[in-house]
Amino acid sequence: MGLFSRKNDTPSAPIITGNTQIQQPNVAEQNLNELVVQSVHEGVVIIGSDGNIRLVNPAAVNMFGRNEEEIIGFNYETTIRLLDKNGNQVSDEHNPIGYSLKSGEYGETREFDLVTLDSNKVTPVSIIIVPTSEEQRNLVVTFRDITQELKEEQERNDFISTASHEMRTPVASIEGYLGLAMNPSTATIDERAMDYLTKAHEASQHLGHLFQDLLDTTKLDDGQAKTRMEPVELVELVKQLADGQIPNITAKGLGYQFGTGNIEQTLGGARQIGQLIYASVDKSLLHEIIDNLIENAIKYTQEGWVTVSVKADDRNAQIIVKDTGIGMPREELGHIFQKFYRIDNRDTREIGGTGLGLYLVKQKVEAMNGRIWAESEVGKGSSFIVSFPRISQDVYKKQRFVLDNQASQNFQNPNAA
Ligand code: ADP
Repeated sequence: MGLFSRKNDTPSAPIITGNTQIQQPNVAEQNLNELVVQSVHEGVVIIGSDGNIRLVNPAAVNMFGRNEEEIIGFNYETTIRLLDKNGNQVSDEHNPIGYSLKSGEYGETREFDLVTLDSNKVTPVSIIIVPTSEEQRNLVVTFRDITQELKEEQERNDFISTASHEMRTPVASIEGYLGLAMNPSTATIDERAMDYLTKAHEASQHLGHLFQDLLDTTKLDDGQAKTRMEPVELVELVKQLADGQIPNITAKGLGYQFGTGNIEQTLGGARQIGQLIYASVDKSLLHEIIDNLIENAIKYTQEGWVTVSVKADDRNAQIIVKDTGIGMPREELGHIFQKFYRIDNRDTREIGGTGLGLYLVKQKVEAMNGRIWAESEVGKGSSFIVSFPRISQDVYKKQRFVLDNQASQNFQNPNAA
């Protein structure tokens, strides 16, 4: 369950309360620590393992909109009212504080708004939760107003989005004219000019991809991209989408294989014709994901195979795109899904790219409640595994029936939608 963007890697904060296990601050230090807590702009509370509030600083008193006497000793739920991004009060299960108390997981989240109780003001906050110590399981919870931060992020996103949108058009025109100049039926040029134009054409294509990727990134970052989830039979759908890449795979001289099977079975070999695996996905996002993973497999493979397979166990369905290419060092696997991250070594330097592809793939997978990770060995090849919760045939049929009926009703009565 992923309530936190950063889990368990936040250091504990023994200094604020001091305890017997960890070095006890002396009186002067303790006063100083308290002074710091009292004077910071962030709201800070200490919550006991029973859920009752032990300490609150003035900033938190202001943010919660209750007097200190109405806060100390009371359960956190009576004073700290959180809303999700749809404006709904968060359930016990999704409350990050309750979650930390139960699970012992800590971290930071920006998924919630805080309600100031005396004015009903709603403020977007970053909530950082750290334990006071392993033994005590008290929590130090810090609330930071991120209104300004979100506004600046939005402005930055808007700028990138407008700029890339505006720049796509002239770049497409440059690409078009270069294409005409290179086409022997529309222009006559010598060999050297052809060489220059080919390079310019490649660069303009690269620029076009970059702008498109930037545009997609801003859309996904500010949640503009809405998913249209529908129940699908994954084996047939993935095969159909992956088959669309066969011309690109064979153009590079690589072999192509498609297979299905159980997750435990070794990759590539399993071929279980007729297996049906159901999941809920957004078809057009899945199309983009598969295209991107196969394009990478082709790009980073000089010889051998690209294998696509769909596998499942009782709970999950997996789509695996495997290649026999240059592979990736193990220590890079945690970074490749970051924005603009490219592995820089002798093998990759000649291969063009923006470093945005896998970032976008991950955003899209997660927008569909899926997970993605990579396994790889340098010189042997890579596998990218996309996993979605599996749904039963029964659920598939019911959801499909409802969806198809809605569609046919809307079709008969176009004003209904
Ligand atoms: P790029 O535009 O650079 O391909 P991506 O975000 O798609 O950006 O990938 C990030 C990095 O991960 C790439 O620069 C490359 O080093 C590595 N990578 C991605 N796919 C593969 C693959 N199939 N085989 C080897 N390396 C890969």
